Amino acid sequence: MTPTDTVPLPRPSREEAEDAIRTLLRWAGEDPAREGLLDTPGRVVRSYEEFFQGYAEDPSEILSRTFSEVDDYDEIVLLRDIRFESHCEHHMVPIIGVAHVAYLPGKRVVGISKLARVVEAFSRRLQIQERLTAQIANTINDVLQPHGVAVILEAGHQCMTTRGVHRPGVSMVTSRMLGVFRTNSDTRRELMAMLNRPSAATTHI
Ligand SMILES: [Zn+2]
Repeated sequence: MTPTDTVPLPRPSREEAEDAIRTLLRWAGEDPAREGLLDTPGRVVRSYEEFFQGYAEDPSEILSRTFSEVDDYDEIVLLRDIRFESHCEHHMVPIIGVAHVAYLPGKRVVGISKLARVVEAFSRRLQIQERLTAQIANTINDVLQPHGVAVILEAGHQCMTTRGVHRPGVSMVTSRMLGVFRTNSDTRRELMAMLNRPSAATTHI
């Protein structure tokens, strides 16, 4: 192991981060002193604070704080179509999609908003979709210790749509099934039926 594996490098100052954006602007062929770009480095750095806010959040903590004990709820809990915004770690461009998160509770349940916050805490980091999917599922599994967890992500990657191979409209689907969702095909089938059902919002239109 090298020292950088164990000792994190000191965080650059805001001023250093803004200077880095000026460097990129110059590298792209721009003049950072041009009026329209004067405030851009500051705005970009503030955007980064929002895009990468997840590093300051502890997803396990989000789930563990509010669980309640239930005795007998033995049906699937599904939160579907959770919009998420992440950034690919190879190109630092957006990955935008929806997450479907399901679990079959053991003794613990959480408010559904907490599931969405776990998705957000892991999304707001540099990611690859496969790892994002696994992290969400593993964290729910570890903290709630349910009978099973299923996480399905469907997303468009701007590194595929706006650069490189330029394939707009392509989405990538990843899933991680744990516990009964992995071992029991009836449970998995029930989940798929719930996912395919039109949402209440759609049926009322
Ligand atoms: Zn990429």
